[in-house]
Amino acid sequence: MFIDLSASDTGQVGLEMYHLISELYPICRSITGNGVRKSLHILQKFIPLEIHEVPTGMKVFDWTVPKEWNIRDAYVKNSRGEKVIDFQLSNLHLLNYSIPIHKKLPLAELKEHLYTLPEAPDWIPYRTSYYKENWGFCLSHNALENLEEGEYEVYIDSSLQDGHLTYGEYYLPGETEDEVLFSCHICHPSLCNDNLSGMALATFLAKRLTLQPRRYSYRFLFIPGTIGSITWLCLNKNITHNIRHGLVISGVGDKGEITYKRSRHGNAEIDQAVTHILKHLGEKYRIEEFSPYGYDERQYCSPGFNLPVGRLTRTPFGKYEEYHTSADNLEFVSSKHLENSWIVYLAVIDVLENSRIYNSKNPMCEPQLGKRGLYGMLGGEQDKKDIEMAMLWVLNLSDGTHTLLDIANRAGISFEMVTRATTALLQVGLLQK
Ligand code: ZN
Repeated sequence: MFIDLSASDTGQVGLEMYHLISELYPICRSITGNGVRKSLHILQKFIPLEIHEVPTGMKVFDWTVPKEWNIRDAYVKNSRGEKVIDFQLSNLHLLNYSIPIHKKLPLAELKEHLYTLPEAPDWIPYRTSYYKENWGFCLSHNALENLEEGEYEVYIDSSLQDGHLTYGEYYLPGETEDEVLFSCHICHPSLCNDNLSGMALATFLAKRLTLQPRRYSYRFLFIPGTIGSITWLCLNKNITHNIRHGLVISGVGDKGEITYKRSRHGNAEIDQAVTHILKHLGEKYRIEEFSPYGYDERQYCSPGFNLPVGRLTRTPFGKYEEYHTSADNLEFVSSKHLENSWIVYLAVIDVLENSRIYNSKNPMCEPQLGKRGLYGMLGGEQDKKDIEMAMLWVLNLSDGTHTLLDIANRAGISFEMVTRATTALLQVGLLQK
Protein backbone atom coordinates (compact mmCIF):
# COMPACT_ATOMS: atom_id res chain seq x y z
CA MET A 1 0.00 0.00 0.00
CA PHE A 2 1.07 3.54 -0.72
CA ILE A 3 -0.10 4.93 2.62
CA ASP A 4 1.91 3.77 5.55
CA LEU A 5 0.36 5.44 8.54
CA SER A 6 2.95 4.09 10.88
CA ALA A 7 2.86 4.85 14.57
CA SER A 8 5.50 7.54 14.16
CA ASP A 9 3.13 9.50 11.93
CA THR A 10 0.08 9.28 14.12
CA GLY A 11 -0.41 12.60 15.84
CA GLN A 12 3.06 13.83 14.91
CA VAL A 13 2.23 15.27 11.49
CA GLY A 14 -0.81 17.03 12.94
CA LEU A 15 1.37 18.66 15.58
CA GLU A 16 4.00 19.68 13.04
CA MET A 17 1.34 21.25 10.81
CA TYR A 18 -0.07 23.08 13.81
CA HIS A 19 3.39 24.41 14.71
CA LEU A 20 3.89 25.64 11.18
CA ILE A 21 0.54 27.45 11.33
CA SER A 22 1.61 29.05 14.64
CA GLU A 23 4.82 30.29 13.02
CA LEU A 24 2.99 31.76 10.00
CA TYR A 25 0.08 33.20 11.98
CA PRO A 26 1.56 36.59 13.04
CA ILE A 27 2.75 37.53 9.54
CA CYS A 28 0.72 40.12 7.64
CA ARG A 29 0.23 38.59 4.22
CA SER A 30 -1.64 40.00 1.26
CA ILE A 31 -1.88 39.26 -2.45
CA THR A 32 1.60 40.77 -2.88
CA GLY A 33 4.43 41.97 -0.67
CA ASN A 34 6.99 40.93 1.88
CA GLY A 35 4.54 39.02 4.07
CA VAL A 36 4.10 36.52 1.25
CA ARG A 37 7.87 36.29 0.69
CA LYS A 38 8.54 35.77 4.38
CA SER A 39 5.87 33.04 4.53
CA LEU A 40 7.28 31.23 1.48
CA HIS A 41 10.78 31.38 2.98
CA ILE A 42 9.42 29.62 6.06
CA LEU A 43 7.92 26.90 3.85
CA GLN A 44 11.33 26.48 2.20
CA LYS A 45 12.56 25.03 5.51
CA PHE A 46 10.33 22.03 4.71
CA ILE A 47 10.32 21.78 0.91
CA PRO A 48 12.61 23.33 -1.72
CA LEU A 49 9.91 25.37 -3.38
CA GLU A 50 10.76 27.83 -6.09
CA ILE A 51 9.74 31.45 -5.56
CA HIS A 52 8.50 33.30 -8.65
CA GLU A 53 8.22 37.08 -9.00
CA VAL A 54 5.85 38.47 -11.63
CA PRO A 55 6.12 42.22 -12.32
CA THR A 56 3.37 44.73 -11.64
CA GLY A 57 1.49 45.67 -14.79
CA MET A 58 1.81 42.35 -16.58
CA LYS A 59 -1.41 41.49 -18.40
CA VAL A 60 -2.73 38.09 -17.33
CA PHE A 61 -5.79 37.27 -19.41
CA ASP A 62 -8.41 39.89 -18.49
CA TRP A 63 -6.49 40.98 -15.38
CA THR A 64 -3.35 42.97 -14.57
CA VAL A 65 -0.76 42.09 -11.94
CA PRO A 66 -1.39 44.77 -9.28
CA LYS A 67 0.99 47.11 -7.54
CA GLU A 68 2.90 45.58 -4.66
CA TRP A 69 1.67 46.47 -1.20
CA ASN A 70 3.81 46.57 1.90
CA ILE A 71 2.90 47.60 5.40
CA ARG A 72 5.10 48.63 8.29
CA ASP A 73 2.78 50.16 10.89
CA ALA A 74 -0.70 51.58 11.33
CA TYR A 75 -2.74 53.00 14.16
CA VAL A 76 -5.51 55.38 15.18
CA LYS A 77 -4.88 57.65 18.17
CA ASN A 78 -7.50 59.56 20.15
CA SER A 79 -7.17 63.22 21.18
CA ARG A 80 -5.18 62.16 24.28
CA GLY A 81 -2.62 60.43 22.06
CA GLU A 82 -3.71 56.91 23.10
CA LYS A 83 -3.72 54.23 20.42
CA VAL A 84 -7.33 53.04 20.12
CA ILE A 85 -6.63 50.82 17.10
CA ASP A 86 -3.18 49.28 16.70
CA PHE A 87 -1.96 47.17 13.76
CA GLN A 88 0.81 45.80 15.99
CA LEU A 89 -1.80 44.06 18.16
CA SER A 90 -3.57 42.42 15.22
CA ASN A 91 -2.85 42.82 11.52
CA LEU A 92 -6.58 42.30 10.89
CA HIS A 93 -7.10 45.84 12.26
CA LEU A 94 -5.97 47.27 8.95
CA LEU A 95 -8.05 47.18 5.78
CA ASN A 96 -5.68 45.02 3.72
CA TYR A 97 -4.11 47.03 0.85
CA SER A 98 -4.76 50.37 2.59
CA ILE A 99 -2.93 53.26 0.96
CA PRO A 100 -0.59 55.39 3.12
CA ILE A 101 -2.18 58.20 5.06
CA HIS A 102 -1.38 60.46 7.99
CA LYS A 103 -4.00 62.97 9.06
CA LYS A 104 -6.32 64.17 11.77
CA LEU A 105 -10.07 63.91 11.40
CA PRO A 106 -13.25 63.95 13.49
CA LEU A 107 -14.95 60.72 14.61
CA ALA A 108 -17.80 61.02 12.10
CA GLU A 109 -15.34 61.13 9.21
CA LEU A 110 -13.21 58.35 10.69
CA LYS A 111 -16.28 56.13 10.99
CA GLU A 112 -16.66 56.10 7.20
CA HIS A 113 -13.41 54.10 7.17
CA LEU A 114 -14.19 51.70 10.03
CA TYR A 115 -15.51 48.16 9.62
CA THR A 116 -17.09 46.05 12.38
CA LEU A 117 -19.26 42.98 12.82
CA PRO A 118 -22.28 44.03 14.92
CA GLU A 119 -23.52 40.41 14.98
CA ALA A 120 -20.25 39.23 16.60
CA PRO A 121 -19.30 42.32 18.62
CA ASP A 122 -16.05 40.93 20.10
CA TRP A 123 -14.48 39.91 16.80
CA ILE A 124 -12.44 41.91 14.31
CA PRO A 125 -13.56 41.40 10.71
CA TYR A 126 -11.08 40.78 7.87
CA ARG A 127 -11.55 43.19 4.97
CA THR A 128 -9.56 43.98 1.84
CA SER A 129 -9.53 46.58 -0.89
CA TYR A 130 -7.18 45.20 -3.53
CA TYR A 131 -8.60 46.68 -6.67
CA LYS A 132 -9.90 50.04 -5.41
CA GLU A 133 -7.48 52.41 -3.67
CA ASN A 134 -8.83 53.04 -0.19
CA TRP A 135 -7.83 53.03 3.46
CA GLY A 136 -9.58 51.77 6.54
CA PHE A 137 -9.49 49.98 9.86
CA CYS A 138 -11.34 46.96 11.21
CA LEU A 139 -12.22 46.63 14.87
CA SER A 140 -14.60 44.89 17.20
CA HIS A 141 -18.04 46.45 17.36
CA ASN A 142 -17.59 46.88 21.12
CA ALA A 143 -14.42 48.90 20.54
CA LEU A 144 -16.24 51.08 18.01
CA GLU A 145 -18.98 51.84 20.52
CA ASN A 146 -16.35 52.96 23.04
CA LEU A 147 -14.88 55.59 20.72
CA GLU A 148 -15.57 59.07 22.07
CA GLU A 149 -16.39 62.15 20.06
CA GLY A 150 -13.30 64.16 19.19
CA GLU A 151 -10.40 64.38 16.83
CA TYR A 152 -8.42 61.30 15.84
CA GLU A 153 -4.99 60.84 14.30
CA VAL A 154 -4.85 58.23 11.56
CA TYR A 155 -1.47 56.83 10.53
CA ILE A 156 -0.85 54.14 7.92
CA ASP A 157 2.78 53.56 6.98
CA SER A 158 2.24 51.45 3.86
CA SER A 159 3.47 51.54 0.29
CA LEU A 160 1.63 50.69 -2.89
CA GLN A 161 4.11 50.75 -5.75
CA ASP A 162 5.28 48.94 -8.82
CA GLY A 163 6.88 45.70 -7.65
CA HIS A 164 5.97 42.06 -7.99
CA LEU A 165 3.40 39.40 -7.33
CA THR A 166 5.14 36.54 -5.52
CA TYR A 167 4.16 32.89 -5.57
CA GLY A 168 5.70 29.56 -4.67
CA GLU A 169 5.81 26.43 -6.77
CA TYR A 170 7.11 22.95 -6.04
CA TYR A 171 7.23 20.38 -8.83
CA LEU A 172 7.97 16.80 -7.96
CA PRO A 173 8.59 14.65 -11.01
CA GLY A 174 7.14 11.13 -11.16
CA GLU A 175 7.28 8.22 -13.61
CA THR A 176 5.14 10.14 -16.10
CA GLU A 177 4.55 13.78 -17.00
CA ASP A 178 0.90 13.35 -16.04
CA GLU A 179 0.37 15.64 -13.12
CA VAL A 180 -1.62 16.01 -9.94
CA LEU A 181 -2.06 19.66 -9.00
CA PHE A 182 -2.46 20.88 -5.43
CA SER A 183 -3.18 24.56 -5.04
CA CYS A 184 -3.58 26.68 -1.94
CA HIS A 185 -3.95 30.41 -1.40
CA ILE A 186 -1.43 32.29 0.73
CA CYS A 187 -2.80 35.84 0.74
CA HIS A 188 -4.57 36.08 4.09
CA PRO A 189 -2.99 37.67 7.17
CA SER A 190 -3.66 36.23 10.65
CA LEU A 191 -6.35 33.70 9.78
CA CYS A 192 -5.70 30.07 10.62
CA ASN A 193 -8.25 27.87 8.92
CA ASP A 194 -8.76 29.96 5.80
CA ASN A 195 -5.38 29.93 4.11
CA LEU A 196 -2.86 28.81 6.78
CA SER A 197 -4.26 25.30 7.26
CA GLY A 198 -4.09 24.78 3.48
CA MET A 199 -0.51 26.04 3.32
CA ALA A 200 0.52 23.69 6.12
CA LEU A 201 -1.26 20.65 4.67
CA ALA A 202 0.13 21.28 1.18
CA THR A 203 3.65 21.64 2.59
CA PHE A 204 3.48 18.39 4.55
CA LEU A 205 1.86 16.52 1.66
CA ALA A 206 4.68 17.67 -0.60
CA LYS A 207 7.27 16.68 1.98
CA ARG A 208 5.67 13.27 2.32
CA LEU A 209 5.39 12.66 -1.43
CA THR A 210 9.07 13.48 -1.86
CA LEU A 211 9.80 10.25 0.01
CA GLN A 212 7.41 8.01 -1.98
CA PRO A 213 7.66 6.34 -5.37
CA ARG A 214 5.39 8.32 -7.68
CA ARG A 215 3.50 7.29 -10.77
CA TYR A 216 2.33 10.87 -11.24
CA SER A 217 4.29 14.08 -11.12
CA TYR A 218 3.02 16.48 -8.47
CA ARG A 219 2.80 20.24 -8.62
CA PHE A 220 2.15 22.33 -5.52
CA LEU A 221 1.16 25.95 -5.96
CA PHE A 222 1.28 28.47 -3.11
CA ILE A 223 -0.40 31.48 -4.68
CA PRO A 224 -2.41 34.56 -3.80
CA GLY A 225 -6.12 33.86 -4.30
CA THR A 226 -7.69 34.65 -7.69
CA ILE A 227 -4.93 36.83 -9.17
CA GLY A 228 -2.35 34.14 -8.32
CA SER A 229 -4.12 31.28 -10.09
CA ILE A 230 -4.97 33.55 -13.04
CA THR A 231 -1.30 34.56 -13.28
CA TRP A 232 -0.03 30.98 -12.99
CA LEU A 233 -2.51 29.74 -15.61
CA CYS A 234 -1.54 32.56 -17.97
CA LEU A 235 2.18 31.86 -17.61
CA ASN A 236 1.74 28.07 -17.83
CA LYS A 237 -1.11 27.60 -20.28
CA ASN A 238 1.08 25.37 -22.46
CA ILE A 239 1.59 22.77 -19.76
CA THR A 240 -1.88 22.56 -18.23
CA HIS A 241 -2.71 19.63 -20.54
CA ASN A 242 -0.51 17.50 -18.23
CA ILE A 243 -2.86 18.07 -15.28
CA ARG A 244 -4.87 14.88 -14.85
CA HIS A 245 -6.24 15.55 -11.37
CA GLY A 246 -6.22 18.45 -8.96
CA LEU A 247 -7.44 19.70 -5.62
CA VAL A 248 -7.70 23.12 -4.08
CA ILE A 249 -6.67 22.87 -0.43
CA SER A 250 -7.96 25.22 2.24
CA GLY A 251 -9.99 25.16 5.43
CA VAL A 252 -8.64 21.80 6.59
CA GLY A 253 -8.07 22.45 10.28
CA ASP A 254 -11.52 23.05 11.81
CA LYS A 255 -13.65 20.43 13.51
CA GLY A 256 -16.40 20.41 10.88
CA GLU A 257 -17.06 17.52 8.54
CA ILE A 258 -14.99 17.02 5.41
CA THR A 259 -16.62 18.63 2.38
CA TYR A 260 -15.81 17.95 -1.23
CA LYS A 261 -16.81 20.25 -4.06
CA ARG A 262 -16.82 18.47 -7.40
CA SER A 263 -14.88 19.69 -10.41
CA ARG A 264 -16.72 21.25 -13.33
CA HIS A 265 -16.60 17.82 -15.01
CA GLY A 266 -18.65 16.49 -12.10
CA ASN A 267 -17.50 12.91 -12.43
CA ALA A 268 -13.81 13.13 -13.28
CA GLU A 269 -11.50 10.54 -11.74
CA ILE A 270 -10.60 12.99 -8.94
CA ASP A 271 -14.33 13.37 -8.16
CA GLN A 272 -14.72 9.60 -8.08
CA ALA A 273 -11.61 9.09 -5.97
CA VAL A 274 -12.55 11.64 -3.32
CA THR A 275 -16.18 10.57 -3.08
CA HIS A 276 -15.07 6.94 -2.80
CA ILE A 277 -12.67 7.69 0.06
CA LEU A 278 -15.25 9.78 1.92
CA LYS A 279 -17.91 7.10 1.53
CA HIS A 280 -15.64 4.48 3.09
CA LEU A 281 -14.13 6.73 5.76
CA GLY A 282 -16.82 5.99 8.32
CA GLU A 283 -17.25 9.68 9.19
CA LYS A 284 -19.86 12.25 8.22
CA TYR A 285 -19.05 14.18 5.07
CA ARG A 286 -20.67 16.42 2.48
CA ILE A 287 -20.48 16.56 -1.29
CA GLU A 288 -21.17 19.81 -3.12
CA GLU A 289 -21.83 20.10 -6.81
CA PHE A 290 -19.64 22.43 -8.86
CA SER A 291 -20.49 26.10 -8.94
CA PRO A 292 -18.49 28.95 -10.46
CA TYR A 293 -17.99 30.56 -7.04
CA GLY A 294 -15.38 29.67 -4.42
CA TYR A 295 -11.59 29.54 -4.21
CA ASP A 296 -9.15 29.08 -7.09
CA GLU A 297 -11.15 26.20 -8.59
CA ARG A 298 -13.02 29.10 -10.20
CA GLN A 299 -10.01 29.68 -12.44
CA TYR A 300 -8.88 26.05 -12.94
CA CYS A 301 -12.46 25.16 -13.88
CA SER A 302 -13.03 28.15 -16.17
CA PRO A 303 -14.25 26.83 -19.53
CA GLY A 304 -11.02 27.60 -21.40
CA PHE A 305 -9.12 25.28 -19.05
CA ASN A 306 -11.85 23.04 -17.61
CA LEU A 307 -9.29 21.15 -15.54
CA PRO A 308 -10.42 18.24 -13.37
CA VAL A 309 -9.85 20.16 -10.15
CA GLY A 310 -12.11 19.83 -7.12
CA ARG A 311 -11.92 21.42 -3.69
CA LEU A 312 -11.41 19.38 -0.55
CA THR A 313 -12.00 21.25 2.72
CA ARG A 314 -13.65 20.70 6.06
CA THR A 315 -16.42 23.27 6.70
CA PRO A 316 -16.63 25.25 3.45
CA PHE A 317 -15.65 28.92 3.53
CA GLY A 318 -18.49 31.23 4.55
CA LYS A 319 -20.34 28.39 6.31
CA TYR A 320 -18.76 28.97 9.72
CA GLU A 321 -19.25 32.17 11.66
CA GLU A 322 -15.54 32.55 12.47
CA TYR A 323 -14.79 32.80 8.73
CA HIS A 324 -12.91 36.01 7.82
CA THR A 325 -12.81 37.19 11.43
CA SER A 326 -10.26 37.29 14.24
CA ALA A 327 -11.98 34.18 15.65
CA ASP A 328 -10.39 32.07 12.87
CA ASN A 329 -7.40 31.86 15.19
CA LEU A 330 -5.08 29.27 16.70
CA GLU A 331 -7.91 27.93 18.88
CA PHE A 332 -10.17 27.39 15.89
CA VAL A 333 -7.88 24.79 14.28
CA SER A 334 -6.44 21.68 15.88
CA SER A 335 -3.65 19.22 15.18
CA LYS A 336 -6.22 16.41 15.38
CA HIS A 337 -8.36 17.76 12.54
CA LEU A 338 -5.35 18.78 10.48
CA GLU A 339 -4.09 15.24 10.73
CA ASN A 340 -7.49 13.78 9.89
CA SER A 341 -7.56 15.94 6.72
CA TRP A 342 -4.01 14.86 5.88
CA ILE A 343 -5.05 11.20 6.08
CA VAL A 344 -7.95 11.83 3.70
CA TYR A 345 -5.63 13.57 1.22
CA LEU A 346 -3.15 10.68 1.41
CA ALA A 347 -5.95 8.17 0.87
CA VAL A 348 -7.07 10.08 -2.24
CA ILE A 349 -3.49 10.12 -3.56
CA ASP A 350 -3.30 6.39 -2.88
CA VAL A 351 -6.35 5.84 -5.11
CA LEU A 352 -4.96 8.03 -7.90
CA GLU A 353 -1.57 6.31 -7.77
CA ASN A 354 -2.91 2.76 -7.72
CA SER A 355 -6.13 2.78 -9.69
CA ARG A 356 -4.77 0.99 -12.73
CA ILE A 357 -6.39 -1.23 -15.33
CA TYR A 358 -5.57 -4.95 -15.33
CA ASN A 359 -6.47 -7.95 -17.44
CA SER A 360 -7.43 -11.30 -16.02
CA LYS A 361 -5.18 -14.00 -17.48
CA ASN A 362 -7.92 -16.52 -16.89
CA PRO A 363 -11.13 -14.98 -18.27
CA MET A 364 -12.80 -18.24 -19.35
CA CYS A 365 -14.80 -19.20 -16.26
CA GLU A 366 -13.48 -18.55 -12.76
CA PRO A 367 -9.93 -19.61 -12.00
CA GLN A 368 -9.63 -22.09 -9.14
CA LEU A 369 -8.57 -19.96 -6.21
CA GLY A 370 -8.24 -22.78 -3.68
CA LYS A 371 -5.42 -24.57 -5.45
CA ARG A 372 -3.48 -21.29 -5.52
CA GLY A 373 -3.81 -20.85 -1.79
CA LEU A 374 -6.08 -17.83 -2.15
CA TYR A 375 -8.87 -19.07 0.11
CA GLY A 376 -8.59 -18.42 3.80
CA MET A 377 -5.33 -16.59 3.30
CA LEU A 378 -6.01 -13.67 5.58
CA GLY A 379 -7.11 -12.74 9.09
CA GLY A 380 -10.55 -13.17 10.63
CA GLU A 381 -13.69 -14.69 9.16
CA GLN A 382 -15.21 -11.45 7.92
CA ASP A 383 -11.92 -10.28 6.46
CA LYS A 384 -11.61 -13.60 4.58
CA LYS A 385 -15.08 -13.26 3.11
CA ASP A 386 -14.46 -9.64 2.11
CA ILE A 387 -11.16 -10.33 0.41
CA GLU A 388 -12.57 -13.37 -1.41
CA MET A 389 -15.45 -11.28 -2.69
CA ALA A 390 -13.01 -8.55 -3.72
CA MET A 391 -10.90 -11.13 -5.64
CA LEU A 392 -14.00 -12.32 -7.51
CA TRP A 393 -14.88 -8.76 -8.47
CA VAL A 394 -11.33 -7.93 -9.57
CA LEU A 395 -11.09 -11.11 -11.66
CA ASN A 396 -14.50 -10.51 -13.22
CA LEU A 397 -14.03 -6.83 -14.09
CA SER A 398 -10.35 -6.88 -15.02
CA ASP A 399 -11.14 -6.98 -18.71
CA GLY A 400 -8.91 -4.11 -19.79
CA THR A 401 -11.61 -1.47 -19.42
CA HIS A 402 -12.21 -1.03 -15.67
CA THR A 403 -9.86 0.72 -13.29
CA LEU A 404 -9.53 -0.63 -9.77
CA LEU A 405 -11.56 2.37 -8.62
CA ASP A 406 -14.34 1.44 -11.06
CA ILE A 407 -14.27 -2.06 -9.62
CA ALA A 408 -14.35 -0.84 -6.01
CA ASN A 409 -17.31 1.44 -6.78
CA ARG A 410 -19.24 -1.18 -8.75
CA ALA A 411 -18.65 -3.78 -6.04
CA GLY A 412 -19.34 -1.38 -3.16
CA ILE A 413 -16.04 -2.47 -1.59
CA SER A 414 -13.34 -0.15 -0.28
CA PHE A 415 -10.46 0.64 -2.61
CA GLU A 416 -8.11 -0.62 0.06
CA MET A 417 -9.75 -4.09 -0.02
CA VAL A 418 -9.66 -4.11 -3.82
CA THR A 419 -5.94 -3.31 -3.88
CA ARG A 420 -5.25 -6.06 -1.34
CA ALA A 421 -7.12 -8.53 -3.55
CA THR A 422 -5.26 -7.25 -6.60
CA THR A 423 -1.88 -7.68 -4.93
CA ALA A 424 -2.77 -11.29 -4.03
CA LEU A 425 -3.94 -12.04 -7.59
CA LEU A 426 -0.83 -10.48 -9.11
CA GLN A 427 1.35 -12.60 -6.82
CA VAL A 428 -0.14 -15.84 -8.17
CA GLY A 429 -0.04 -14.60 -11.77
CA LEU A 430 -3.79 -14.34 -12.37
CA LEU A 431 -3.64 -10.69 -13.46
CA GLN A 432 -1.49 -8.67 -15.81
CA LYS A 433 -1.21 -4.95 -16.53
ZN1 ZN B 1 -10.62 33.88 2.56
